Amino acid sequence: RPGPGAPAAEAVVDLDAVRHNTRYLSGLASGAETMVVVKADGYGHGAAAVARAALSAGATRLGVATLEEALALRADGVDAPLLSWLHLPDADFAAAVAAGVELSVSGRVHLAAVLAGARAAGRRVRLHLKADTGLSRNGCPPGEWPALLDDVSQGVADGTCEVVAVWSHLAAADEPGQPAVDSQAARLHAAAALARDRGFAPQLHLCNSAGLMTRPDLHLDVVRPGIAVYGLDPIARPADSPLRPAMTLRGRVALTKTVEAGEGVSYGHEWVAREPRTLALVPLGYADGVPRRLNDGGRMRVRIGGTVRPVAGRVCMDQFVVDCGRPGILPVAIGDPVELFGTGADGGPTAREWADELGTIHYEIVTGVRGRVRRTVT
Ligand code: PLP
Repeated sequence: RPGPGAPAAEAVVDLDAVRHNTRYLSGLASGAETMVVVKADGYGHGAAAVARAALSAGATRLGVATLEEALALRADGVDAPLLSWLHLPDADFAAAVAAGVELSVSGRVHLAAVLAGARAAGRRVRLHLKADTGLSRNGCPPGEWPALLDDVSQGVADGTCEVVAVWSHLAAADEPGQPAVDSQAARLHAAAALARDRGFAPQLHLCNSAGLMTRPDLHLDVVRPGIAVYGLDPIARPADSPLRPAMTLRGRVALTKTVEAGEGVSYGHEWVAREPRTLALVPLGYADGVPRRLNDGGRMRVRIGGTVRPVAGRVCMDQFVVDCGRPGILPVAIGDPVELFGTGADGGPTAREWADELGTIHYEIVTGVRGRVRRTVT
């Protein structure tokens, strides 16, 4: 049992798991460099801590979405090669270039702003040119690619930029056999060929976690795993995965009580005791990233008192109630730990299970942990 003063709600991040997963993934893609994606505060796990752990276990580069995320890592002392890819053209590119952040550009407007930032910083910017190969999201469409390359050529000629890579992002790598994967790869190679025609010698990168784990033929020069680094398999279920989930979401029992048969539990009395029951109150709710809908089907379960028990009634803003069975059956006491999701060992609940229940993906579960949950990195 956690000692007095232990957090009532805690996301415990196991950096050993991050190191294990990084070693596994960079071993799979041993011919490529591994750029670990630590956007969204390391998918909710803590960007700087995950970055350091991954770099110590085989990753050589980091990727984030925004400049703010990149600069926060630099401020934290992380000095590895770092790519940022999602910007408005009025972002502070001078600060990013001064901090040695590599920048992705997807069009001429952004390129002009990035080159202006590099001039202001007095330093050459390292560019990753993003081709839209079929995700139709960020990235330069084929029709605009030659004009973008022309502008890049000018920047290279006057010493404002250099081309590090041509890259893209897969739309459906988690559905093995989806034809989009091959057509995206073909379009990336076509975009790269045009870049080579202009004398550039770009590295190529395309694979996210699912691509890395299923398409060794597409590892190219760099792979960019995110979710798998955190131990959440993009395809296989946790029990069948070589990965180790890094985050365990925990609470502690705030109160226990016994209710009589016929008593309703939580808002709307969707759960009614059919016989006397022991209940345990857990101080996490939807404000902390435990979705209110999670127990709509009555299938939410937690690990408590050495076993797995169902949640009784609706999840509230700050709390929910666990049905601990007939009085005296389960030894639960105030302060006891309650695992909401974790590694899944011994049949415990997992983020994947939550995602399935909610009709979403586990990415949304771990990045959604927030509010009063304290993060503990071990
Ligand atoms: N590359 C880019 C551009 C991304 O936006 C992401 C995340 O969505 C990744 C790589 C990592 O993807 P995953 O978490 O599926 O491995």
